[in-house]
Amino acid sequence: MRKPLIAANWKMYKTPEQTVAFFTAFLPLVAGHHRDSIAIFPSATSLPAAVKVAHGSNAAVGCQNMHWLDEGAYTGETSAPMVTAVGCTYILIGHSERRQYCGETDEIVNRKLHTALKHKLIPLVCVGETDAEREAGHTEQVLRRQLEQGLLNVSHEQAGPMVLAYEPVWAIGTGKTATPQVAAEAHLFIRDEVARLLGRSFASNLRILYGGSVKPENASVLMNEPEIDGALVGGASLDPQSFAKIVKYAAT
Ligand code: PEP
Repeated sequence: MRKPLIAANWKMYKTPEQTVAFFTAFLPLVAGHHRDSIAIFPSATSLPAAVKVAHGSNAAVGCQNMHWLDEGAYTGETSAPMVTAVGCTYILIGHSERRQYCGETDEIVNRKLHTALKHKLIPLVCVGETDAEREAGHTEQVLRRQLEQGLLNVSHEQAGPMVLAYEPVWAIGTGKTATPQVAAEAHLFIRDEVARLLGRSFASNLRILYGGSVKPENASVLMNEPEIDGALVGGASLDPQSFAKIVKYAAT
């Protein structure tokens, strides 16, 4: 049984004060909810506030990005030891916005994945094709490349806690959601590729989340697909009521 994970990617939204206000409203709405794991990824400056307010609750806190080196002369960067020191347990890697705007390549994803696993952070690694790639019939080719290069030289023993997110770029922040069938087809393909790379037993236990315009209205239909093991939610995770509804509709 794969325990679903419902994750919130807040992108570049919310100050520490707004973060505390969110958790104060959200945590009572999901108190005692243990069917799904919950992880929230605030922006870096809000992490200490998030960790403090979420302490002892059923919501984990993750960081949206980090460098692959432990320290060095890299102005503006944050390292894995800094992320763990602040109390984060998750790290987001390879989000399409970082691939698109910050030059995050499959090779960088792979370096960050090795670093995350070394520092016992739970990596949430994103893969997904663009609209043009899907239109050209290249979806599987793109996913295969992202997985082969992103997971390079990672063993199934090391990769244990890793979670993947299938996030078709055309569905992120656009209001266009993949149908459950389209998402399930991609998830099956991803699981088979992971089985080829890391073994069938690892792949069978791997959680693959869907991300792309998940909302309270479509969460349950997506989560009814046996291949979908949770959701990575952007826009609809910024409001505590909306995100709590998504958490509760999952896997029903
Ligand atoms: C995301 O940022 O990972 C995402 C899926 O965003 P949205 O839910 O807004 O499409």
